[in-house]
Amino acid sequence: MDRYLSRRNLIGGFAGIGAAATLVTLPGLRGNAEGRSSLSAAQGTPAATTGPHTLPPLPYDYAALEPHIDTQTMQIHHDKHHQTYVDNLNKAVADQQDLAGLSALELIQDLARVPEAKRTAIRNNAGGHVNHTMFWEIMGPNGGGEPTGAVAEAITAAFGDFAAMQEAVNTAGLGRFGSGWAWVILGEDGELAVTSTANQDNPLMTGVVDVPGTPILGVDVWEHAYYLKYQNKRTDYLTAWWNTLNWEAINQRFEQAAG
Ligand code: MN
Repeated sequence: MDRYLSRRNLIGGFAGIGAAATLVTLPGLRGNAEGRSSLSAAQGTPAATTGPHTLPPLPYDYAALEPHIDTQTMQIHHDKHHQTYVDNLNKAVADQQDLAGLSALELIQDLARVPEAKRTAIRNNAGGHVNHTMFWEIMGPNGGGEPTGAVAEAITAAFGDFAAMQEAVNTAGLGRFGSGWAWVILGEDGELAVTSTANQDNPLMTGVVDVPGTPILGVDVWEHAYYLKYQNKRTDYLTAWWNTLNWEAINQRFEQAAG
């Protein structure tokens, strides 16, 4: 059921929220999209939910991002925070027959189809599920350094150089008051751009967010993402976070989004 779309189709799908959904499936959400993914016993994460949505296992060890992101933060962030978004998403869709077969990604791309009474819960929790699934994927052990591959060329084209993009992302993350995310998106004009969203909003929430687009990478600036190690120093967390990036995974996202 994975559907790979050209940019033309992607843009067409964004044109009318409420119209028949045109969907893009990003790496790592394939299992969830079918409601089939299962937890890895190796990670020791309990299967806490009943419902179509499941917590994807962390694709590396909890300690893999040390010293940039500490082990305890990763354990709590993945096993507790992300699990809670999954649990609350399952609760929100429990009595919604029409929504039961949809992935979290499908839900956030067409919130207009969600009954109003459930829309805030699904916006927050499907958003949280999609955002965190991406977040684990775009990081990894021995990460960081300069971007590689096709995305490196797109970064140069859009920002001049990588340092300028980093500065824009850091500024967006620092400027996000309260909780949210800073993103690099492939915009509807086919160029990379930096934006930020509040809470668990995602740039795929067309009609909801100010600057829609397809997320290529994003950084969680909720305090739960950094407070244990960095306390109130969001700047220090952002500076360290760049050392975790998995450019191979980011390139896969970019190539899929660019079609
Ligand atoms: Mn988070």
